[in-house]
Amino acid sequence: MAGLGDGGLPGVRPDLAALEGYHSAQVDVEVRLNTNESPLPPPEAWRREFAETVAAIDFNRYPDREAIALRQALADSHAVGIDEIFCANGSNEVLQCLLLAYGGPGRTVALFEPTYTLHRHIARITGTAVAAGARRDDFALDLDVVADVVAGSDPVLTFLCSPNNPTGRADRPEEVATVAGLVPGLLVVDEAYGQFAPSSALELRATDPGAHRNVVVVRTFSKTWSMAGARLGYLVADPEVVAACELVALPYHLDAAKQVAGRLALRYVDEMERRVAAIAEERGRIAAAFTDLPLESWPSDANFLLFRPTTKPAREVWSDLVDASVLVRDCSSWPGLTGCLRVTVGLPEENDRFLAALTESLR
Ligand code: PMP
Repeated sequence: MAGLGDGGLPGVRPDLAALEGYHSAQVDVEVRLNTNESPLPPPEAWRREFAETVAAIDFNRYPDREAIALRQALADSHAVGIDEIFCANGSNEVLQCLLLAYGGPGRTVALFEPTYTLHRHIARITGTAVAAGARRDDFALDLDVVADVVAGSDPVLTFLCSPNNPTGRADRPEEVATVAGLVPGLLVVDEAYGQFAPSSALELRATDPGAHRNVVVVRTFSKTWSMAGARLGYLVADPEVVAACELVALPYHLDAAKQVAGRLALRYVDEMERRVAAIAEERGRIAAAFTDLPLESWPSDANFLLFRPTTKPAREVWSDLVDASVLVRDCSSWPGLTGCLRVTVGLPEENDRFLAALTESLR
């Protein structure tokens, strides 16, 4: 019998009691550069097509439970079979399904920090143990650490995040291949920012599917596709992994409008690539401006930059920016990221506002 909490209601699971929810401070500001969304909307033509198609949906009926049209469009876009695609409500739900299917009490996942904090968070929510190793000082993977952690914990899933949030760099393809060969279970490569990166673990799967059957690539429509509001993510993996995720996903979890949104978005690859290129250019401009400021920063293959002010505490810089109506992510209390802030690349005028406020703060 669960113990009663305050007010006579049951207490939550004891293993969750110490857990804090995951959220980014939402402050009312004019320039929001804290959650790595795209600053650019999806194409106008997509918006029109989406509105017309949604208007014709039979909303009294359940949606296609297997999301065939959406999954086929994704399969075609990656030149894989439809049985290698699983979709969910954002890539966070994809990760949750992987952990529900493969994690749980008595099982362990491995990850290398600093990295996307939700990997650890969802593991804990699903009662899965976490074996963590550290990335190197420059945030690259340390393959010796990876080998030690994996040998010591026998993980059912090992997570990489490439490009890595919040540090920015993509892992090198040969490193990802080495890790895939090292791990006893699945290697989950979270590529939420994949289209910004010079390489993808999808290429590993494509070049030698037999040798890399254990590689799972997770992607999202939230960043490069400018569709964070649609909540759609997916994985590309061996059909056995897809079947495992389907086992734990709730019936009809993908609503009809979302299925349309994703399917139609894939018709606008060129527009997506142009947005990615424009954001990468702005990223270069911010990185260049950083070199004139008293801060340490790291190269990025994504739509954000990590930096560490060297003359003023990060929290004060964060507050100065908020006072100037610019919101960035305060990572300074995260393990391995003492003194660090993360800025998402925004529109040119937003980046100007950010750089002006930062320069003023660090003056
Ligand atoms: N993975 C990484 C690395 C991310 O940065 C994010 C978003 N912050 C996600 C997954 C989740 O994205 P979504 O659920 O919107 O697809």
